[in-house]
Amino acid sequence: DKSRQDRLYFDSYSDVTIHEEMLADHVRTNAYRTAIFRNSDSIRGKVVLDVGAGTGVLSIFCAQAGARKVFAVEACSIAEQAEKIVKQNKMEDRVEVIRGTVETVELPEQVDVIVSEWMGYALLHESMLNSVLYARDRWLKPGGLILPNRAELFIAPVSDPVVEDRLYFWYNVKDQYGVDMSCMADFAQKCVRNSDIAVNTVAGEDVLSHPARFAELDLRSVTVEELRSVGGAFRCESFGSAAVNAFCVYFTVSFPCPDGPHALVLSTSPFQPETHWKQAVLYVDRPEEVVQDTPVSGEVRMYPSEDSARHVCVHVDFSIGNHKRQSKTFSIPDWT
Ligand code: SAH
Repeated sequence: DKSRQDRLYFDSYSDVTIHEEMLADHVRTNAYRTAIFRNSDSIRGKVVLDVGAGTGVLSIFCAQAGARKVFAVEACSIAEQAEKIVKQNKMEDRVEVIRGTVETVELPEQVDVIVSEWMGYALLHESMLNSVLYARDRWLKPGGLILPNRAELFIAPVSDPVVEDRLYFWYNVKDQYGVDMSCMADFAQKCVRNSDIAVNTVAGEDVLSHPARFAELDLRSVTVEELRSVGGAFRCESFGSAAVNAFCVYFTVSFPCPDGPHALVLSTSPFQPETHWKQAVLYVDRPEEVVQDTPVSGEVRMYPSEDSARHVCVHVDFSIGNHKRQSKTFSIPDWT
């Protein structure tokens, strides 16, 4: 049930490990830090709500950027540590840590800015965005700033050497130990190519085309209702000859940049420096050969799982060249 799922979810943030991983992710943390400082004209003297403050790092960045008041709302016990960190940085007059879910806390006033790091694997896993949208609708002044304010999802066909190596492995057992296990190949195939999403680093050279964007969310206006089904069509063309045995799905989020022509983008692309989100790898049941310019096209739809609303399902319907259309539904096994 929902309360048990929420308890498991918040427990996962009560340990030091996940906060260590997030703060050690310099791409992530520096993107937020830079974005907050670049928006200091909109933050100075203003009131900020940090949704899911964790250690309070983003709240302190906002205070450093001149915020008059920051409400650091955090549901789990890491809030006690955030309290200490705020004191250690002598920010207790400006940063107020409030323990509770953003859906239940009462703030003394509406806010000018919302900042949140809510992204999960494949963007929507964990469904924390719902909480940010709740906070936006309940506490953000009309026309207020939301950081980040845009999210995009991408897909690309890949040729993942790991699966092929793992399947081939069973043919080599005989050479090593004199026991033939090649009959395991079918079973291994079923296990490796199951419908679980693997969270792995995809090497740029294994990506077979320019990634295609299949969805875009404007965080100032998207609704919880719209998050019940996120997706769209895609079309790519292969760079060269290979076997497509998987798709990789990843996201970017963007922050407004008042001084420059371009938004500041936090990217989890396989062509960009690695982040702790890595990429989501979706193995297809029937790998297909492609050559240069072979079209790979289809449709992706992401929606919350029926068993657990915090789990995202990814349905991919695709065709590779002239091969028969395939479709498969994937899900992320668990966040622990
Ligand atoms: N802002 C921190 C932590 C991000 S992780 C940082 O950038 O390092 C997301 C945090 O949001 C977790 O600590 C989680 O416990 C918290 N969280 C998730 N949903 C929440 C909700 N509905 N209300 C309050 N906190 C929430």
